[in-house]
Amino acid sequence: MGPFNYLSRPISEHSLLNRHYIVSVAESNGYSAFDFHARILYIYLSMSTARVHINSFGCQMNKLDTALVTASLKQAGFVLADGIEQCDVVLINTCSVRGHAEQRVLSHLGNLKHIKQTRPEMIVGVVGCMAQRLGGELLARDEVDIVCGPAQIPQIAELVTETLSGKKKTLAVTEKIRQASEEQTRALEEFESAADADDRTVPNQAYVRVMRGCNNFCSYCVVPFVRGPEVCRPPKAVIEQIKKLADRGVKSVTLLGQRVNAYEYKQGRKTYCLADLLEMASEVEAIKWLRFVTSYPSEKFFDGILQAMADLPKVCSYLHLPAQSGSDGILQAMNRHYTAGQYLALLARARAAVGDIAVAGDFIVGFPGETEADFSATVDLVKKARYKNAFIFKYSPRPGTTAEKENQNNIPDEVKKRRNTELLDVQTKISDELSSRFLGKEVEVLVEGLSKKPHLDKADSRGQPQLVGRTAADYIVVFNGPLSLAGQFAKVKITKTSPLTLFGELKTIATEVTDAVLSSLKANEESNTD
Ligand code: SAM
Ligand code: SF4
Repeated sequence: MGPFNYLSRPISEHSLLNRHYIVSVAESNGYSAFDFHARILYIYLSMSTARVHINSFGCQMNKLDTALVTASLKQAGFVLADGIEQCDVVLINTCSVRGHAEQRVLSHLGNLKHIKQTRPEMIVGVVGCMAQRLGGELLARDEVDIVCGPAQIPQIAELVTETLSGKKKTLAVTEKIRQASEEQTRALEEFESAADADDRTVPNQAYVRVMRGCNNFCSYCVVPFVRGPEVCRPPKAVIEQIKKLADRGVKSVTLLGQRVNAYEYKQGRKTYCLADLLEMASEVEAIKWLRFVTSYPSEKFFDGILQAMADLPKVCSYLHLPAQSGSDGILQAMNRHYTAGQYLALLARARAAVGDIAVAGDFIVGFPGETEADFSATVDLVKKARYKNAFIFKYSPRPGTTAEKENQNNIPDEVKKRRNTELLDVQTKISDELSSRFLGKEVEVLVEGLSKKPHLDKADSRGQPQLVGRTAADYIVVFNGPLSLAGQFAKVKITKTSPLTLFGELKTIATEVTDAVLSSLKANEESNTD
């Protein structure tokens, strides 16, 4: 072991009190005790003041990982920086789901390379799915110092410390991602259970992962190759985490999994499924809303989950159920295990069981071989499904996936674009119709903070800022009110609607403002003044 490897643990875990041991290691490695002490002092001082800026790309899973990374860095003594101007370390948490997401990261790295010409001491780390997918290729770039896969985020503070202490380049990824070891799973579980995930972006709301990875191998999807096999977390760990969050003021929790409805954990004779988790989480008093994403269209556990949604008042009537296509041929080529008819039958059951359920969908247009008839079948399904909103993506070939290996990316980009626009138009009309039903009604929202876009007429604002909140069914609501409402429930009367946003007037507000709310507000205010 080299002397500075000893310092690779978080600074809080060891102190200079252990210097006798360090010095003996140093001397046995040919360092004079004087040099060594000077070096340790330098590292200690730079560690305790090192400023880290984190950029996050991608889905809710990534947002959660960013929150975990943030928490572990803070715990290790690092200071979080809002911008890259004065930071010592830049970490980018990346997404590989579509080529476009990777391109954005690469162009960001290009900017950092430029900045590093004048600030060569700045450390750049790439974390997450792209790190796992591209590994050494990323590390070979001049500007990249650390490459850390999603399974290695428990080591992130250590990796940054090592690099600050002079280590040139570090690659930490899983060599055989589909054969993740038990040890790795245990490390991830320990890290996630212990972490005080610090997401400053939305006060009093939190994500809790219930399963990692995916075994579904949809033919277009890179997730199983970067996130590894599906592993469900123990129910006790999930519930303990929710209780901890509730103690910190969290009121709304979203359970996360790539096929969250397939959650299954065997313990003795009992098999826990998502409905059990929802029931247990409902018993945590301070938690008022529970959601879960993303669901995979499958029979397994489906009715039990709908029953939980209908019976448990805290479980929000919101279902994100991606269909991807309305053509049976394309669904088969995508390795999705259902037909359009079966999908619509599941939706009909959901609507019968949970009266006011809001449904969101995902679609991919321009999958290899998608004909005009296939695309019409998708349009047809969207019309029948009547989603609250749908995320529509142009097919992006992902290296290593079956679709990429077996098929040419044979739908021209202009056809993909046209289909994307056409499908979006159909969906926008439906979203508009569904939104307009709220006109004149009062809705309850959990306030997120300042609205980023200027939507409302300033003349009506009465000097109050424009806030944004979400209903239990995930409708976005914009209204004027005091910023102190962030993180609280409020009632808003809807006065205007658009396809994706409801606008209204604040009616009543819930009361208590906790310390957690105040600190989140402060953080929000600071990030909004950037
Ligand atoms: N696990 C979820 C599921 O099965 O629906 C979704 C996970 S994926 C991160 C989110 C969405 O990205 C998918 O629902 C799909 O619509 C889209 N997506 C995934 N791979 C894609 C690709 N290669 N090209 C375009 N869109 C893609
Ligand atoms: Fe990807 Fe399919 Fe797994 Fe979702 S279910 S993460 S789309 S492989």
